[in-house]
Amino acid sequence: MMNIKPYDNRPVLNPCTLEGRNYQVDPYIGCEHYCYYCYALNQAETDWSKEILIHEDIASQLESELEGIPPQTIYMGWQTDPYQPCEAEYRQTRQVIELLLKKGFSASILTKSDLVLRDTDLLQKMNTAGVSASVAFNDNRTRRLFEAYTVDNEKRIEALRQLKEAGVRTGALLCPVIPYITDAIKLIDMLAPCTDVIWIYGLSINDRSDQNWLNMQKILSREFPDLLEQIEPAIFSKEHFYWAQLRDDLVTLKNDRQLNLNIRL
Ligand code: SF4
Repeated sequence: MMNIKPYDNRPVLNPCTLEGRNYQVDPYIGCEHYCYYCYALNQAETDWSKEILIHEDIASQLESELEGIPPQTIYMGWQTDPYQPCEAEYRQTRQVIELLLKKGFSASILTKSDLVLRDTDLLQKMNTAGVSASVAFNDNRTRRLFEAYTVDNEKRIEALRQLKEAGVRTGALLCPVIPYITDAIKLIDMLAPCTDVIWIYGLSINDRSDQNWLNMQKILSREFPDLLEQIEPAIFSKEHFYWAQLRDDLVTLKNDRQLNLNIRL
């Protein structure tokens, strides 16, 4: 059973280093999705399989932090998923979006869950709200190996379809591309009809002692022993020929089909 503990001694609004975004809000501290490759696991304060922290009275704290800041788009989904399972009950994300809407701000959201559909009514009323889903695996069996607690790809894609139909801007984050496992071209075929833009990033691990690499190494050795020798050098070098070939293939696809692809491999 997940322990949800209040934590009130830190800002809700934080600087954001993403292009075009000044601020970000993580409504939770920790992420129940517990994707084994997640870079945020390297700085996790609690065991995310057991404990998630929440800001107490998130709306009033954020309201005072937003004072004097001109309305703009706030990013959500930086270190945690704003629609992880506990959001169904705790509604931290919904409270943030309600407040942003009331104050004339907008939200740009990244999630792996279709729970975001619950807030379509609010997102529709914002000026430039956008929702992106991150997807990295071609089938749910493989997905469960690397992210056991997320929802099926089909649900994420259906959520994007419904949001797009409702007039919300949609995107996909094809991330992380895991060399020799993720078929990026096939995923783009699935994602293109329900998204306005697709961002593509490869799996990036800084150090072999990082928690996310230790997790990945365990899964790869158990499930893909014959591929491990090929996968590991590609994960640790973006100069590897795997990435060069994939970049070429994606540029060709982008030009041939006139797709809005942002290739960040
Ligand atoms: S959903 Fe995102 S933040 Fe949460 S564990 Fe997965 S990669 Fe990390």
